[in-house]
Amino acid sequence: MSRAVIIGAGMGGLTAAALLLKRGWQVTVLEAGTYPGGCAGTFTHKGYRFDAGATLAGGFDPAGPHTRVAEILGLQWPVTPIHDAAWATHLPEQTIHQWVDPARWRAEYQTHFPFSARFWQKQEQFAKIAWELSARDFPWPPVTLGEVARLPLALRPETLAAAPYLFRKIRHLLPRETTPEFKAFVDGSLLISAQAISDQADALYGASVLDLPRRGVMHVRGGMGAIAETLVNWIRANGGQVEYRQRVTGLETVNGAAQAALTAKEMRFEADCFLANVTPWALETLLGEAAPGSLQRETRSRAAMWGAFVIHAGVRAEKISHPITHHQVIVDVNQPLGEGNSVFISLSPLDDASRAPAGMRAAILSTHTRIRDWQGLSETAYQERKAAYAQKVLTAAERALPGFRAAAELILPGAPRTYAFYTHRPQGMVGGFPQTSLFSARGPQTGLRNLWLVGDSIFPGQSTAGVTLGAMRVAGLVNGQKKR
Ligand SMILES: Cc1cc2nc3c(=O)[nH]c(=O)nc-3n(C[C@H](O)[C@H](O)[C@H](O)COP(=O)(O)OP(=O)(O)OC[C@H]3O[C@@H](n4cnc5c(N)ncnc54)[C@H](O)[C@@H]3O)c2cc1C
Repeated sequence: MSRAVIIGAGMGGLTAAALLLKRGWQVTVLEAGTYPGGCAGTFTHKGYRFDAGATLAGGFDPAGPHTRVAEILGLQWPVTPIHDAAWATHLPEQTIHQWVDPARWRAEYQTHFPFSARFWQKQEQFAKIAWELSARDFPWPPVTLGEVARLPLALRPETLAAAPYLFRKIRHLLPRETTPEFKAFVDGSLLISAQAISDQADALYGASVLDLPRRGVMHVRGGMGAIAETLVNWIRANGGQVEYRQRVTGLETVNGAAQAALTAKEMRFEADCFLANVTPWALETLLGEAAPGSLQRETRSRAAMWGAFVIHAGVRAEKISHPITHHQVIVDVNQPLGEGNSVFISLSPLDDASRAPAGMRAAILSTHTRIRDWQGLSETAYQERKAAYAQKVLTAAERALPGFRAAAELILPGAPRTYAFYTHRPQGMVGGFPQTSLFSARGPQTGLRNLWLVGDSIFPGQSTAGVTLGAMRVAGLVNGQKKR
């Protein structure tokens, strides 16, 4: 039986592990932390179940990646559909609801942005093309001859409509006559789902993620981490291993292949194939001198990912009783987003008692932040910066949820060092690479023939849905290699 060692129990690692197990592999997942899910995990603190990062669960529509994985594995996710708004975006003068129902959404954008109908029609058309390609397992960017051969098979005549936009950005689709409010609204949606705003986001990729609110968004009972917990239970029930507190510190290689993973507990795990649920920078550290030149060049030349500043808060439910669980606040539409000017807020659903002590709700507030601004700071300067960001983010939250600060009984700020510590992502870089061009997308290759990356560093990048698609592709690749 072929053996796979998976480094990291994030959504990418767990999904790939489960799919390989299903295909007859013996799998061992080694996780440094004490719970699964990484950035999409849920941790417990003082009676709360707080989401570590991800809160909005999409991709549960009938052809969506989570649904497909559940069908393959024969498992059920602990989810219930969101029927009203996936989230509400609060601009200074108006609140726009991202209704799940397409007809209701069309009426919403016509009311707020009557000039934007053609933009949304194009967006819907491209999103359909992109999501259908992903449902046909379009292996992008191809890394083997087999994948190159599969590309044309996934294309359809209607795919051609997107061809003229292959090198375009979302900004090329925007209406000629626009407003700062509309641009900020589109940019805000893109930033949380493509890690890039309309000036930079790839047109096809951007169009597909702007569709997210209408692509099977769900409440996850028990918090986002319940998805990863479901995968861990399935892997263990089917004979696979998931080991916590097993930080991999190095990879042993021989003749251009990985041979064993070495852990901080001085254990050695041999396998035929290794999947690393880490960023390229982390992989380079694990490989040390054996890191291939291509990986070394990549880590020197690639721009850093975003960091995140977050607040985990416990708020009194009687004061913060809004039924919509996700909100985005854009404070000033004329200023760059992130850094407290755009804040995403998620509240635990009112009917999920597992998430907070009686009478309370678990909340997470997050904003994109440049990691370089947090580097090299003394402990005092770092704490001062954290305190200043906390004030900014809480002030923004008041726009969407008046009385938030007064209703909070617990406030836990977290910044890039927090993410570096808990998710083991170097420098606290989260969310994957900004998706600016299909032609600079990163594939799963590492330069070693039996070592692959999974997770949000590989296309299609961030989100539980995106990472799941990437993991499905890598599991197929690895299994195909074994057959050959
Ligand atoms: C603040 C924030 C908000 C977000 N919001 C959303 C959202 O609303 N919806 C959404 O879908 N996505 C969201 N995302 C993105 C989403 O969380 C990620 O894209 C996705 O979860 C990343 O999965 P991954 O497979 O790359 O693994 P990661 O989450 O990076 O997990 C990797 C795992 O590997 C472990 N690990 C790392 N190194 C080692 C090692 N050497 N040895 C052993 N174990 C190791 C880590 O401990 C971790 O558990 C958000 C992210 C953040 C940070």
